[in-house]
Amino acid sequence: MSYPLPETARAWQARMRAFVDAELIPLEVETEMHDGAIPRDVRERHYEATKAMGLFMPSIPKEHGGAGLSMLEIAVIQEQIGRATNGLGFCYHDLSPFLVHTATPYQMEHYVRDLLSGARNECYAITEEGAGSDVDAIQATARRVGNQFRLDGLKWHVTGANVADIVIFQAKLEDGGHGLFYVDRDQAGIEVVRTPKYMHHFPGHHLVLRFTDVRVPAENQIDPAGGGLQWTYDWFRQERLKIAARCCGAASRLIDEATAFARSRVQFGRPIWDNQAVQFPLADSLTELWAGRLMVYRLAEAIDAKEDLKVQHAMCSMAKLYCSEMANRVADRAVQVFGGRGYMRENVAERFFREVRVDRIWEGTSEIQRMIVGHSLAKRGQDALIG
Ligand SMILES: Cc1cc2nc3c(=O)[nH]c(=O)nc-3n(C[C@H](O)[C@H](O)[C@H](O)COP(=O)(O)OP(=O)(O)OC[C@H]3O[C@@H](n4cnc5c(N)ncnc54)[C@H](O)[C@@H]3O)c2cc1C
Repeated sequence: MSYPLPETARAWQARMRAFVDAELIPLEVETEMHDGAIPRDVRERHYEATKAMGLFMPSIPKEHGGAGLSMLEIAVIQEQIGRATNGLGFCYHDLSPFLVHTATPYQMEHYVRDLLSGARNECYAITEEGAGSDVDAIQATARRVGNQFRLDGLKWHVTGANVADIVIFQAKLEDGGHGLFYVDRDQAGIEVVRTPKYMHHFPGHHLVLRFTDVRVPAENQIDPAGGGLQWTYDWFRQERLKIAARCCGAASRLIDEATAFARSRVQFGRPIWDNQAVQFPLADSLTELWAGRLMVYRLAEAIDAKEDLKVQHAMCSMAKLYCSEMANRVADRAVQVFGGRGYMRENVAERFFREVRVDRIWEGTSEIQRMIVGHSLAKRGQDALIG
């Protein structure tokens, strides 16, 4: 029995699955052995292939040149790309619609148009050494100097800053509020402090960037009236849903691979699958994957139906919390099923075991998701959230 996905979502699911199987999975081991580096021509081929499929700026409405896909369609696409390791699934262009909705004519001309066409890429510099979960503790500053802002600060974990052209920089304004700014990556005053190594091996690195007396026109401030906050929440909701979907994809691949291995691996004269000690963790994994997938699809439908935003927010946290924790459990079990092979970097379970770990941390840790859910439960009650 499969989930009653609409025909368009079912078609995206089949197309992306075929693409991931044919184009991405065969590159995993080579990418892993080269510390996540993917040759430029291969990357460009992927971008072109996905664009030819109609997968270009799926979150952006058609009138702005995007594919204007539903959240359910995006969820099934993300689920399929989640089946590939090493960040190979980040193979199509997309953009937060909020940047389009808030763009002034100046911002559209200088930044958003290029982001929309895929000519330039952006990265997000919010986290600092002393401010992670508690974003309000950031110390980066934006001081008004005439018709410019002077930006200063030290940012950590800036994903993709090695390949981005534009940095979205978050800082405290002089009145204590938050401001978000478009900054050209090659602008004077931006220094790469270091490129730390992380647990996963992805093409996008996570840089520590120092901003010293970086001057930007006042027009570069995003959504001055909203302080960027609405943007941040909007971004978090989308990203949390996508993480949950990718975690389901990772779990699905792990279950397939571990099951195939267990059925063919013979010890003590019979397939290890014949032992319940091997079968049960995979049965648990499948059961938990089903629960996670139902959450993701239902949440995507709630977003498409424009259901209560506050409830969506809590649902996104529940889906991210559950699916990321679930994928980590599934990866741990898969390593065990593979035995010593599961500890080798050439093995899919070893790679996912490391890679899904960050899904419990980025875009809000599991503890922060629990805080959001707990807060919403106290305020709205169970029926409003899951009734
Ligand atoms: C690979 C990677 C990529 C990233 N990319 C980006 C990026 O592109 N841009 C960007 O700005 N940031 C990025 N981040 C940063 C990421 O968003 C933060 O790591 C995350 O928000 C957690 O912040 P922290 O690491 O400072 O941990 P902390 O906030 O210091 O938390 C440490 C621990 O304490 C717990 N904790 C904190 N407060 C509470 C509380 N009140 N109650 C209970 N537990 C609590 C946390 O859950 C966590 O377990 C990235 C991080 C990683 C690892």
